[in-house]
Formats: sequence, structure tokens, C-alpha cells
Amino acid sequence: MPDPALDDITSFFISDRPARVSMLRLDQLHPVISGNKWFKLKYNLEAAMNTGFSQVITLGGAYSNHLVATAAAAKACGLKSLGIVRGFHGKAQPTATLRTCAELGMRLHFVSREQYALKDTPAFISALGTSFGGYIIPEGGDNELGRTGAMDIAAFIPATATHVCLPVGTGTTFAGLRNALPATMNITGFPALQDASLAAHIAEHTTPGHSVNWQLEPHFHFGGFARITPELVRFIRSFYAATTIPLDIVYTGKMMFGVAQLIREGIFPEQAHIVCIHTGGLQGNPEDLLTA
Ligand SMILES: *Cc1c(COP(=O)(O)O)cnc(C)c1O
Repeated sequence: MPDPALDDITSFFISDRPARVSMLRLDQLHPVISGNKWFKLKYNLEAAMNTGFSQVITLGGAYSNHLVATAAAAKACGLKSLGIVRGFHGKAQPTATLRTCAELGMRLHFVSREQYALKDTPAFISALGTSFGGYIIPEGGDNELGRTGAMDIAAFIPATATHVCLPVGTGTTFAGLRNALPATMNITGFPALQDASLAAHIAEHTTPGHSVNWQLEPHFHFGGFARITPELVRFIRSFYAATTIPLDIVYTGKMMFGVAQLIREGIFPEQAHIVCIHTGGLQGNPEDLLTA
């Protein structure tokens, strides 16, 4: 993978006079294994190969960026892949994401939402192992090797950054970055869903000396993963028109909407260098999002 670009987007916010705003373009690393997903997967795939597995098993919803990234990355490594999909909606009507998964060779196994809710229990996980056989990557790549991979993103954050902003799903990327970046850099996460346990989950995985100087901004999820408002769509279009950077509707669009509001409110100090991480996710966008 090439090193990601760091784009200067200060001019988008200029009437609100921030010192400097940049965007780290992880979305440009690969068309399917987009953004943060590659970082969370790479050591897991390495572990699967090193321990002699020929298949990886993972879980996600019918629009999951993680599922499709796993399908593509496993294929690239010569591993088979099996996706456990939440709910039967996607079985009756495959989403574009699930079609891509299948095209990349991923076998799909659909389970009810009730069964899926047990996904982190030892009984469910061992049943997966015995039924299908393979190296199991938890939903969202949310494990130790996922966080270790996310730490590698820190290498692309410039030393001049004072504030780092990124969207949050499981918090795997956030925790890895918090542990890898200097404790003096402030990190703000923008959860894309309402989840009261998220902050505790992140705190549990930060290492001593790095459990400081971070916060979650809980006001920009717009009601959850699949929720969109006309205001959000207008924002994403105006951002694209001004910067030519496409944002996704689930994660990075909501984060940047939040960043813009916080800048307007004067939350960041005048001399801040804010680095926003574009974590990808463009594969899931509705086709007319940017241009209609
Ligand atoms: C999966 C995903 C996230 C969330 O990452 P976590 O490590 O689960 O917090 C953020 N942005 C995009 C675009 C994603 O696809």
C-alpha cells in the first residue's frame, strides 16, 4: 500500500478562521480494502496464515465496510473467507456490498438478529469454529491485533498536529491511535451510532500513559448508521464541491459535519493544527450522493 496523502482543507473553514485543518486520505489506499479496515485486518490475516488456517470468518451487517474489506484482503492473501451476515434482509435482497463480497469469493451465511446478538459469546464463537473452521476475526476487526494494526496509522499523522479527529464504530481504530500517538495530541472521536458503552470499551483498551487527552463527541450520529438528513447530504455535497474530497454518508460525512460545527463554535484553540482522518467507506455510498 502507498503512503496516504495529507490534504490541506483549511480554506473550507476559512470564514471561521481555524489555524490549519488537514485530511489524511486513508480512503485512497485501495478501492475496496478502504481506509482503516486494512490496518485492522493486516495482522489478523498474517496470524491466520502463520497458524495454518486456509479460511477467515468474520461478521457484519448487509452494508458492512468491514465485511467487504475482509473479502478483498483475504482474496489478496490467498485465503478463503466466510461472512456471517446479520439478519435475512440481505439474503432476500442482496445489497451492493454483499454482491461485492460474493464476487470476491466470500461465502455468506445469514443469521437472525437474535442469533447475531450473541456474536461475542464464547458459545457462539466456538460453534462458528466447529461448524465452518477458520480463523475468526470479530465484527469490525475489534481485537488486539486490530488495535495493533490501527497503531500504524499514527506514522502518517504529522508531528505538527495538535488535534486528531476520526469517526468511531467499534472504537478499535480510536484505541489503537490513542495508544500510538503522543499523549500531548488531543483526539476526538465521532461515534456513528448511539452506544453508551463505547467510551468504557475504548478506555479499557488504552495503555497506561495514553489514557488521557481524548473524548467522544456524541452529538453527530444523526440517529444511527443508516440515518441521513437533508442537512447532512447538503453538507457532504458542499464539502465535495469545495475540496473535491468525497465523504461517506455513514462515518466521515458525520465526522466532518461535527468538526465544522466545533470549529464554528470556537472549540479548538486558535493555533490548532487539526488532522481529520478519512477512514474510507465510500463503497457504501448511494450512487447519487455527491452529484445529484
Ligand atoms: C469501520 C469504519 C469506521 C469505524 O472504525 P472502528 O475501528 O470500528 O471504530 C470508521 N470509518 C469508516 C469509513 C469505517 O468503514
